[in-house]
Amino acid sequence: SVGAYPNVQNLFAELGISDRLQWKEHSMIFAMPNKPGEYSRFDFPETLPAPLNGVWAILKNNEMLTWPEKVKFAIGLLPAMLGGQAYVEAQDGLTVSEWMEKQGVPDRVNDEVFIAMSKALNFINPDELSMQCILIALNRFLQEKHGSKMAFLDGNPPERLCMPIVNHIQSLGGEVRLNSRIQKIELNPDGTVKHFALTDGTQITGDAYVCAAPVDIFKLLVPQEWREISYFKRLDKLVGVPVINVHIWFDRKLKNTYDHLLFSRSSLLSVYADMSLAC
Ligand SMILES: Cc1cc2nc3c(=O)[nH]c(=O)nc-3n(C[C@H](O)[C@H](O)[C@H](O)COP(=O)(O)OP(=O)(O)OC[C@H]3O[C@@H](n4cnc5c(N)ncnc54)[C@H](O)[C@@H]3O)c2cc1C
Repeated sequence: SVGAYPNVQNLFAELGISDRLQWKEHSMIFAMPNKPGEYSRFDFPETLPAPLNGVWAILKNNEMLTWPEKVKFAIGLLPAMLGGQAYVEAQDGLTVSEWMEKQGVPDRVNDEVFIAMSKALNFINPDELSMQCILIALNRFLQEKHGSKMAFLDGNPPERLCMPIVNHIQSLGGEVRLNSRIQKIELNPDGTVKHFALTDGTQITGDAYVCAAPVDIFKLLVPQEWREISYFKRLDKLVGVPVINVHIWFDRKLKNTYDHLLFSRSSLLSVYADMSLAC
């Protein structure tokens, strides 16, 4: 699913494949763990601008939060709404749970809403996730009318998204090589990149070098000479999260599913979708 990521939407636009995004109703739909097959919805009305559409969606939902909980939640969020970017960045030292406690937000709001949100954003729980991540997402929802709208790709990613990227690169004279693993970033005496050495023995030289390997792998590739540079030192705090993507194929249509992304609200699973409907 493509959520509130303008850069992903820009990529689709640049490739000329925006029509492959299947936009869903502007809602956030939560499974009810104690009522299997039932969902609780936050519906963002099309007629209201942000942030009123989001406020309306929260106020109209009655299954998940009581009125006193909604009021305490709203008061707790006020500094985030008023404080701007500086406030958001200053919250990086606090986990979501610590921030909620500091702001007097009831524990049940954490359990009902933020376990699902933390898992959907970063695959980790509120007691591990930095509050900055949540506030960046919330700010987008509050500032952009369609900031929380979601779309699904209309088919499998290799064919419907990766191939257009490859075609685009090739049309501009570039080359895409698969199964070409970097073994080492070789440096010049002045500390700049000499070449990327691949595991098959080839050397790749270029005018500019970008390494987009996952962070745990990139940390192993960072040359010894770069490790004390503050830019690379900041990698120390980044750790990958192990995640499994599960596809379950049934021999018949499921009942009571919905054409949307569904927040599971389990401690294990973040989100799921009936792909036979959603894609
Ligand atoms: C289960 C799951 C579901 C997700 N669902 C969504 C979703 O619905 N919507 C959404 O927007 N995001 C989703 N995400 C997040 C999204 O997939 C990632 O944020 C995104 O793929 C990260 O892209 P990336 O290019 O930074 O890294 P990656 O996609 O991890 O790419 C890194 C690449 O580096 C390669 N590599 C590794 N080692 C080397 C080496 N030595 N040399 C060369 N190459 C190397 C790897 O093979 C890999 O291809 C999901 C993630 C997971 C795990």
